[in-house]
Amino acid sequence: MNFNELNLSPELLRAVEDMGYTQTTSIQEKTIPVMLQGLDLIGQSQTGTGKTAAFGLPLIQSIVPSDKKRPQALIMCPTRELSIQVAEELRKFAKYTEGVRTVTIYGGQPISVQIRELKSGADIIVGTPGRIKDHIDRHTLKFEDLKVLVLDEADEMLNMGFREEIEDILSYLPQERQTVMFSATMPQPILNLTEAYMKDPEFIKIKSSEMTVSTIEQILYETNQGTKQDLLLQLLEIYRPELSMVFCNTKKMVDDIASLLLSKGYGAAAIHGDMKQEMRSIVMAKFKDRKINILVCTDVAARGIDVDDMDIVFNFDLPQEIEYYVHRIGRTGRAGKTGIAISLITPRQKYLVNVLERLTRAKITKKPLPTLAEVQEIKFHQMKTEMRKLLAKEVPAEIKRIVEELVDEGFSLEDISRALLFKTIGGDVFKEIKSPASLQKVVTHKGYSNLTLDVGNAHGIAAAHIVSCIAEASGISGRDIGKIRIGERTTTVEIPVQHDKAILEEVNKATIKGYTIKAVLSPVVDRPYEKRTYGGSGSYDRNRDFGNRSKGPRRSNYTEKN
Ligand code: ADP
Ligand code: MG
Repeated sequence: MNFNELNLSPELLRAVEDMGYTQTTSIQEKTIPVMLQGLDLIGQSQTGTGKTAAFGLPLIQSIVPSDKKRPQALIMCPTRELSIQVAEELRKFAKYTEGVRTVTIYGGQPISVQIRELKSGADIIVGTPGRIKDHIDRHTLKFEDLKVLVLDEADEMLNMGFREEIEDILSYLPQERQTVMFSATMPQPILNLTEAYMKDPEFIKIKSSEMTVSTIEQILYETNQGTKQDLLLQLLEIYRPELSMVFCNTKKMVDDIASLLLSKGYGAAAIHGDMKQEMRSIVMAKFKDRKINILVCTDVAARGIDVDDMDIVFNFDLPQEIEYYVHRIGRTGRAGKTGIAISLITPRQKYLVNVLERLTRAKITKKPLPTLAEVQEIKFHQMKTEMRKLLAKEVPAEIKRIVEELVDEGFSLEDISRALLFKTIGGDVFKEIKSPASLQKVVTHKGYSNLTLDVGNAHGIAAAHIVSCIAEASGISGRDIGKIRIGERTTTVEIPVQHDKAILEEVNKATIKGYTIKAVLSPVVDRPYEKRTYGGSGSYDRNRDFGNRSKGPRRSNYTEKN
């Protein structure tokens, strides 16, 4: 549909044309007429489908020019940069419309600046719930004249714990108003909010099944949690994406991965909610200029990022809410190009493959881990190409002198080149990532080794944390883990002897409750395999009979004193 079929004012149409929009998107075509009638509505569609214009254009048209400059519309967004982005977009739409002033209100900016802004009057407020509530409490924001309320990315606002603020704010708004909600997903809490605060809303859903997934090749690699970082590095070498995003589930992981990539010489940057706004803007600007080509982020941070021309989207971790998977991978495979989505899953997440295939209605290819030979082949080929280019270049005389001096010392040119090449290529290319399958089944039990970890009660550790950490890190089944004894600062756990070294290696790369752990192996415990016992409450009862062990060393460093 063309925008000019929509009863929008000539001023808005002109602005839309300036922005280069020709055709409406589906959500715009369906919501704009409903909004123009002043009706309540819920709009659900994928990220990047133009929801800002879907509510922004009719909202600007509904503003009645007034000297009072009291807010007539309020748009709530989950994050600072989303608020800024929406406000910027609204200003572009309102470019030719007289007398519409938009003010942004969000945490992280001095409140005094915002109070000054508000004093000059505002027709539209865009902001985050926390700070808006703050201004209401300070009486610096009044909504007597409010006509339209928009909740943008409503699901994310609830996920971020803004429910109370939103409900508080709603209680200050005039009953007689239009309420519009946009959300990428529609979980129950959203529907509850809808029932309580909206009047007969029209529900407009743009099916996500036709989302661009058909142009996306979905690939899975199965590996242990602890080897994911090595694998990511190898995949970056193998696929060589020009632009990519790496999604993680925690801010800490985002920071870790970004530092790792930087240390390996990649142009990577982290984006997450803890970062200062200026910092985020700088990162985004660099990304758009291609000065950064790998963006590492959480789902929440990604929502504010308006880029969708990735070559590859990596799911370092699968999202906790599986529906986000589609939104994440929708950042690639746009505009007729084919994209690639690569997810790293642990052996325990295998069942999710079917879930994802059903969700995307597409086949997901599980690929074997790259072999050492493959990684080397690719890396060496790149290295040779690069060397040939370098060899064609002129080298300063001082460099030649270093070589001459080394030769004088008796090193051959071949020795020197080898050493330099090894330094340049780095050791990673010589690391084989073991397939987790080799650890998965302990067929015959040959007894246990004691693994001692430097976390305990003092860190709030429970047996379940230990089991899931070891199982997750190593791929062995929780059933193959023996007894667990949690002391004050250390924990001892029995692990199958035939895999003890491999497990040790994996566990040392893992974290428990956010703690990085140091694990050590103790001598083999001479105790036959016993089936694990489960406590009645459904939790593992491991402490009960620990003391009954007849044989096996009991070293002092397992005791509670440590
Ligand atoms: P959403 O809120 O659904 O995630 P946005 O409103 O942020 O999506 O829009 C995503 C991008 O698409 C923005 O760059 C926006 O300018 C652009 N866009 C929106 N509507 C159109 C349209 N009709 N034609 C072309 N581009 C559009
Ligand atoms: Mg949006």
